[in-house]
Amino acid sequence: MPANYVVNTKPGKDGNHKIHVQGCSKISYPSSCLDLGIHINYSIAVKEAKLYFPKIITCEYCIDKKEVSVKEKINLFRFFFLNY
Ligand SMILES: [Zn+2]
Repeated sequence: MPANYVVNTKPGKDGNHKIHVQGCSKISYPSSCLDLGIHINYSIAVKEAKLYFPKIITCEYCIDKKEVSVKEKINLFRFFFLNY
């Protein structure tokens, strides 16, 4: 699902920085989130976040890790070719 992803600039106890969809109620420090922008799915947001932080995890509440559908893959393909 395309969404506006954010990454917490404050790491958790395990040293990982958590990625959320903007507005998630489980964001620990909303004021210390870095906006990653709108991405077609979470895996691209993860790649983006890894430019800033080496250890990234995703929020289990707001990020659905189900398999990317064929339709989403096609959209992803289009997204890359039209935007990059
Ligand atoms: Zn979340």
